[in-house]
Amino acid sequence: MRLYQLDSYATRFEARVERAWSDEKGHYAVLSQTFFYPESGGQPADTGVLRGPFGEVRVLHAYEEEKAFGEVVHVLSAPIPEGAEVEGEIDWKRRFRHMQRHTAQHILSQALLRAGNYHTVAVSLDSPVCTVDLEEEAEEERIREAEALAGFAVYADYPIEAFYVSEEELARYPLRRPPKVRGQVRLVRIGDFDLAACGGTHLRTSAQAGPIKVLKWERYKGGTRVYFTAGWEALEDYHAKHALLSRLALAFSTHPLEVEKPVRKLQDELYALKGENQALKEALVEALLGRALEEGVLLVPGPVLGDLAKKLLSWSEKTFLLLSPEGRFALLGPRRQEVLERLKALGAKGGGKEVVQGALPQEKVAEALDPRLVS
Ligand SMILES: [Zn+2]
Repeated sequence: MRLYQLDSYATRFEARVERAWSDEKGHYAVLSQTFFYPESGGQPADTGVLRGPFGEVRVLHAYEEEKAFGEVVHVLSAPIPEGAEVEGEIDWKRRFRHMQRHTAQHILSQALLRAGNYHTVAVSLDSPVCTVDLEEEAEEERIREAEALAGFAVYADYPIEAFYVSEEELARYPLRRPPKVRGQVRLVRIGDFDLAACGGTHLRTSAQAGPIKVLKWERYKGGTRVYFTAGWEALEDYHAKHALLSRLALAFSTHPLEVEKPVRKLQDELYALKGENQALKEALVEALLGRALEEGVLLVPGPVLGDLAKKLLSWSEKTFLLLSPEGRFALLGPRRQEVLERLKALGAKGGGKEVVQGALPQEKVAEALDPRLVS
């Protein structure tokens, strides 16, 4: 029996181990009744513990064995004996978050339907950033409207209830989407806001799902994927982003909502400096080219080492060694391997094909600056 469908706020229960087995992947048990929610409908499984005469084992995962029978299989950290009486306890903090995600999804799907006649075709609730996939290409304005509507539904504090109806009675209920199961169908009603067939765990009122925040959306499989976060996780997201913005605001001596201005200014300055820097490097390479050709071995500023080496590739009959004051070097020309061996004797390390690049100990730079090395 799935107790979580009767009371999604209960966390402890007693049961008997009806079946227990192990295979190379793990240990499993089916219980006479359970509060553990098996992964389904986009909602992750519960975790927790089972206690008994054997001590305590962790419930790592729960899943439905077969849709037809619907038995809940508990994946355990250690084997337990069949027939044992156990006390189960689900990890409430995790479950509550799942209920917030899941209930928020009901609310948001209904809000999207109302705001833009958008139909939810798939959901993913297995991380704090949840998704709702819509059949239609959604417009920004409609999504914003749906987000506001979801906020109103939260503050309306609608009671949430689950009840069963027969397949024949279903026609009398205006469901958001047709049920996937037959026979007795479990319906979940959120006040007069939303009605859907669902076997999952839900909050007692819509207020507990808030806040519901749409994070972004994108085109997906001809429709739209909407990303959202809800409940504690939305609050944590807010805390994290607020803290980040506050730190940035402090660094820029501005208000958190004004941070964009100095960041853009910094970006503009960076682009301008990059352009200037490039022009200066090119001028410096040109200025150094003559001396490099003359001397073969040359001390050059590190930032232009590579650029100058590339330029010197045109003089393929000559060997060049360029050194930076910090000990970086670029080596090219027909005798580069021979020169590399000599540099290695000074403690250099490096490699490369056309241009050998590397570094040698800074105190050896003066010693390596010897034109005879390449002559
Ligand atoms: Zn549900």
